[in-house]
Amino acid sequence: MPVLASTPVRVVDLIRRKRDSGELSPEEIKFLIAGYTSGDIPDYQMAAWLMAAWIRGLNAAELAALTEAMLHSGRVLDWSDLPAPKVDKHSTGGVGDKTSIILAPVVAAAGLYVPMISGRGLGHTGGTLDKLESIAGFNVNLSLPEFRRVLTECKCGLIGQTQEIAPADKKIYALRDVTGTVDNPSLICASIMSKKLAEGIDALVLDVKTGSGAFMKKTEDAEYLAGLMVETGKRMGKKVVALITDMDQPLGRTAGNAMEIAECIDVLAGAGPADLRELCLELAGWMFFLGQRTPNVADGRRLAGEVIASGRAHDKFREIVRLQGGDARVVDEPKRLPQARAKVDVTAASAGFVAAIDCEKLGIACGVLGGGREKKEDKIDPAVGLEFHRRLGDRVERGAPLATLHYNGDARLAEARQLVESSYRIGDKAPAARPLVHKVIGG
Ligand code: URA
Repeated sequence: MPVLASTPVRVVDLIRRKRDSGELSPEEIKFLIAGYTSGDIPDYQMAAWLMAAWIRGLNAAELAALTEAMLHSGRVLDWSDLPAPKVDKHSTGGVGDKTSIILAPVVAAAGLYVPMISGRGLGHTGGTLDKLESIAGFNVNLSLPEFRRVLTECKCGLIGQTQEIAPADKKIYALRDVTGTVDNPSLICASIMSKKLAEGIDALVLDVKTGSGAFMKKTEDAEYLAGLMVETGKRMGKKVVALITDMDQPLGRTAGNAMEIAECIDVLAGAGPADLRELCLELAGWMFFLGQRTPNVADGRRLAGEVIASGRAHDKFREIVRLQGGDARVVDEPKRLPQARAKVDVTAASAGFVAAIDCEKLGIACGVLGGGREKKEDKIDPAVGLEFHRRLGDRVERGAPLATLHYNGDARLAEARQLVESSYRIGDKAPAARPLVHKVIGG
């Protein structure tokens, strides 16, 4: 049983102390993270500690120690030899949230480097890596020399954590996903900031979601999380800004791995849903501004629009897919992506307006169809997912399709269908429109 060398503390004592609202020292947190990363501390003890931390919270000193211990569980990358600023964006996660796959090629096509380290689906939310893996052959597990080669050649690369980059987050993230310990501001902050600070970037744009499909459902909680992350990044000498953005309904028209890749390709080709395109332009605008490519965000937005309109972003995505081993033909022929065998519509039970959407339930339904994991070892079905036909405030007639389920097996179809049906509330009045970007913190 691992014990701290300097003092006779056992892991069980650290779990009990946190359970009883006590504080852990930086040394104890380092011990916990190092022990779990090396495999000396088992999943069940780490899960118990995470749940205690979820319930009792972490103070500022514990959060700083946790972030640093996770960051230094691996290497901190150094791209100082590359001749332009390195920028990235990270989202706290949502349903249909696919902006990374659009932003990486847009920003790289305009000359900045984007060394993006992303995550897998977490809880009810989708993950960039799972989405990219729906492209046949796409390798998100590049070694660091391969990552450097891709980055040098095309200015961006999208990979997951390796044994070298924030390996503690890789393990803890997978454990939190299946133990109900995701939606805690300190745990989210440490997870995101440890891997982002390990990337060796100069600037980071955070997309902090709020609403029914976000981990932070209330705007004040999202703002609190944004504040923690901006503060952590600035303390480590990075330029960081956080946009609080809306997740009271899915972003874009689809949720599901391959379906979302097809939607990204649409946006890169100058089309795609208005909300997704708009959020990408705004986030890209901030990335260009923080990366000193443009003197302000408005010029950054314009540059993003030009890079898309000229086809350079679409070409860049083809280049990334090819360099990471994927079937680059999908970029011009998205029909080559995995397609589900069957579809069924969920329709409105009455006429009226879409008054509310329980977006988290839609994310869970996508997982139930096979698009997400319930256990760490679950395999994802890239083809399945949801297609959304109505947005908040839309007028619907009785029987009009609200969403279409794309599925491959009917074992859990009824469950998924019920989740989708119960996600939509039809009322007499349209709700007040919510802005896509609620607030900017740290700008
Ligand atoms: N995204 C992450 O990378 N980590 C979290 O904990 C939540 C969202």
